[in-house]
Amino acid sequence: MDLRSLIPLTYLIAAVTFVLGLKGLSGPKTAVNGNRIAAAGMLLAVGATFFDVEFQSYGTTGLLVTAAGLVVGGAAGFVGARLVKMTAMPQMVALFNGAGGGAAALVSILELMRGLGGAGVTPGETITSMLGLIIGAVSFSGSAIAFGKLQGLITPRAFKYGGQQIVTSVLFGGMIVLSLLLTASVASTVGVPQLAVMTGVALLALLFGVALVMPIGGADMPVVISLLNAFTGLAVAAAGFVLGNQLLIVAGTLVGASGTILTRLMSKAMNRSIANVLFGAFGAAPAGGGEVGGPMRADDGRTVRETTAEDAATLLAYARNVIIVPGYGLAVAQAQHNVRELADLLESRGVNVVYAIHPVAGRMPGHMNVLLAEANIPYEKLMDMDAVNPEFPRADVALVIGANDVTNPAARSTKGSPIYGMPILDVDKAQQIIVIKRSMKPGFAGIDNDLYLDPKTQMLFGDAKEAVAKLVAGVKAS
Ligand code: NDP
Repeated sequence: MDLRSLIPLTYLIAAVTFVLGLKGLSGPKTAVNGNRIAAAGMLLAVGATFFDVEFQSYGTTGLLVTAAGLVVGGAAGFVGARLVKMTAMPQMVALFNGAGGGAAALVSILELMRGLGGAGVTPGETITSMLGLIIGAVSFSGSAIAFGKLQGLITPRAFKYGGQQIVTSVLFGGMIVLSLLLTASVASTVGVPQLAVMTGVALLALLFGVALVMPIGGADMPVVISLLNAFTGLAVAAAGFVLGNQLLIVAGTLVGASGTILTRLMSKAMNRSIANVLFGAFGAAPAGGGEVGGPMRADDGRTVRETTAEDAATLLAYARNVIIVPGYGLAVAQAQHNVRELADLLESRGVNVVYAIHPVAGRMPGHMNVLLAEANIPYEKLMDMDAVNPEFPRADVALVIGANDVTNPAARSTKGSPIYGMPILDVDKAQQIIVIKRSMKPGFAGIDNDLYLDPKTQMLFGDAKEAVAKLVAGVKAS
């Protein structure tokens, strides 16, 4: 039997595994298996491509170059994914995403050049190729800037300059005009130096990606990464059309659609429109300053109250209902196992413990769910923002561990605040509040938090892991 006839069937099976994989990724319990299923599907699809007639026409050189690419790319992906820390995951996503966009752009350029140098191309094929090139190149350079910002290689804050809108409009207009020129040239005999035009479009698209992401900063970065992810999906789908490869079309469309849905969900969680994320100035806010990195006293005389681990432990040990609010600091300190120990201990004393999960707590969607699942904290104990907010007034203690922006009441009350309108966890409605963090420094959005000046709040300064370990010792002793 000719194995080549099985290629479409193999691609169909792979496409089904991608859908099943996405379905699995919708819950922490099924996520690992979902990922494995989709990865197996991808491996199957890559294997099937080796039997493709056109691929085989490239001979031994084509085989060796492709195999080398697979080994190098596969090893880099495997080692990178194994070594990456949870806190660096968004950078990793940006890097993978950029690589996908760049690859789609290269495929589009090469296929167009091949067509122009051979049997010729239709205007329709040129438009599809230019779409793949533009979207892929924007995603590549935009993701590279996002990676640099999240990794601290370039300033994570929004970089604003005069005439910014004009610069982006000129770049965008330039890409469109050049692409139309190229499309017109393939339809007529007008001699256009096509390679030069294509290079011009590629350069403008790369610059556009930089110009798009540089002015974005702070808490908007995850939304941008998700949007770029959707762009990569579209670029891959366009490359699929160019190559006539159904699997790339399906995979690209799935990534494009899921990236778009995620982008919408995240902007909704921050109460911002996508246009506002792209063209607003969020993240440009200056960081607060003061004695321990932020003010210990407000202008109206309210001061920050500090507590000790022993006092905080006593408060927890004699509470009935405790809501733990995890945030980015918990992930940095890797305190999830200590938190589990504390919760187990409290529950053994009859205290009811649940966790309040804000959709953008941490540095990536689902960050807290994954982190707490790592410490085998039962999934039923994690409560979404909408479900947990009505519970705060009934909580004797809200224990905030390394969370800041997602608890900031300014989002509800301070009109001028950059996070105004973002839904938050109603921690300030709890009877007592204990906040664990190392200093008064602000969180990701770079703004001070009024919660720390609330008379019900006590600050337990220190590294989350050490502070929770001390709480465990304190509860045991009380
Ligand atoms: P924040 O960044 O607002 O605050 C985290 C706090 O943790 C800081 O104030 C810091 O204070 C403290 N911290 C850091 N390290 C430690 C440590 N070792 N021990 C104890 N505390 C520590 O985090 P949130 O989770 O509250 O909010 C997430 C923010 O990030 C939001 O603005 C969100 O929009 C944004 N974001 C979200 C993404 C997502 O998809 N989830 C992705 C990217 C950004 P100190 O330095 O004083 O210790």
